[in-house]
Amino acid sequence: MKVMAQIAMVMNLDKCIGCHTCSVTCKQAWTNREGTEYMWFNNVETRPGVGYPRTWEDQEKWQGGWTRTASGKLKPRAGGKLKKLATIFSNPNMPGVEDYYEPWTYEYDKLLSAPRDQRVLPVARAKSQLTGKHMDTISWGPNWDDDLGGSAETLSQDPVAAQVGLKIKTSIESSFMFYLPRICNHCLNPTCVASCPSGAMYKRTEDGIVLVDQDKCRGWRMCVSGCPYKKVYFNHATGKAEKCTLCYPRLEVGQPTVCSETCVGRLRYLGVLLYDADRVGEAAATENPQDLYEAQRDIMLDPFDPEVMEAARASGVPDAWVRAAQQSPVYALIHTYGVALPLHPEYRTLPMVWYVPPLSPLVEEITAAGGDGEDHRILFTAVSQMRIPLEYLAGLLSAGDEALVERVLRRLCAMRSHMRAIRLEQAPDPEIARAVGMRGD
Ligand code: SF4
Ligand code: SF4
Repeated sequence: MKVMAQIAMVMNLDKCIGCHTCSVTCKQAWTNREGTEYMWFNNVETRPGVGYPRTWEDQEKWQGGWTRTASGKLKPRAGGKLKKLATIFSNPNMPGVEDYYEPWTYEYDKLLSAPRDQRVLPVARAKSQLTGKHMDTISWGPNWDDDLGGSAETLSQDPVAAQVGLKIKTSIESSFMFYLPRICNHCLNPTCVASCPSGAMYKRTEDGIVLVDQDKCRGWRMCVSGCPYKKVYFNHATGKAEKCTLCYPRLEVGQPTVCSETCVGRLRYLGVLLYDADRVGEAAATENPQDLYEAQRDIMLDPFDPEVMEAARASGVPDAWVRAAQQSPVYALIHTYGVALPLHPEYRTLPMVWYVPPLSPLVEEITAAGGDGEDHRILFTAVSQMRIPLEYLAGLLSAGDEALVERVLRRLCAMRSHMRAIRLEQAPDPEIARAVGMRGD
């Protein structure tokens, strides 16, 4: 067993309020330079919606991620060796500026310097950051879906809704929405690295952070196509690829990532995972996409297991990293409690950003059953009464395995109910206590 360490993140979607503080602080720190105007290493999407860049989940269009051949081997759909020069020079599988957006700024200086006696209200006009010209209309931007959140229109354009065949209902009662913050997943089996013909993309051995060597990058942009999450960007000023660095200079001095530190909802849990590097390829090539979650979880190692601790030492993982893995909430959320799921496991990159799915109680159903709006004991038995359709969450987080998402939601309800009873000094329901693996007393 070859033990390696990986920095991973778990985001609790119930707690995201869509304030975009994470995106803005990340932008201030990392992409506030010429050539990076349109880049959002961290973005927050309103779901359902088309996301940023538009329809990034449509792998038929963008040719991202891995394909599994008949012999069970994986190969990246994009890039790889330099033999396909023609396709590299005219790589058609990349989002254009219309899919990201044309970044703009407002002429605030003109607004503030308007003469006092101006008769009409001054207007701050928008100016393109790419061309420097005025923009008469602005028709697209990151999280443009926000204003339409939950509408039939966003649902009709959402690639996940189309894939799971979600029926569009137009009544306001049946609408749903939630926020999905996204960064690079610092995958265990990254296609961006496999797609790069120059060997510029690499995964750091000490902590698993995926980076671009700016000296080696030749601007082929196969990583942009190859990443199924569309989390590599091309800097048109330097001619090089750029991406989320998981704030490694901050991590190296013991600080959290900017997005974790500034998150208003406190929903980002950052920590260390230990995994068996010898089994990564086998896990990623698991035949049935719905088994990928278990395969991915299976290669995570229990940092308290003496055999794992010994193997970690033999593999050169410093003791401090093993201690960090033991103290990390990430392993517990993924493994012990099993409430965190990877985004689109079917892309086979083994993403290391995990999500606790949102609970979305239909409050009137709960009150009709005799509970108050916070009564998760009732929800525990009625997860089918959630506002967000199970099939939609399953299309996003479990390759369509609705039973898995239902299990996670039930467990979350049970945990809340259990803790609520304790706080209210009531006797916890033994059935629910059993469901969360706790004693009924
Ligand atoms: Fe690479 Fe990050 Fe995309 Fe994974 S999410 S393939 S690590 S750029
Ligand atoms: Fe969500 Fe936190 Fe980002 Fe606000 S800062 S949008 S709560 S992830």
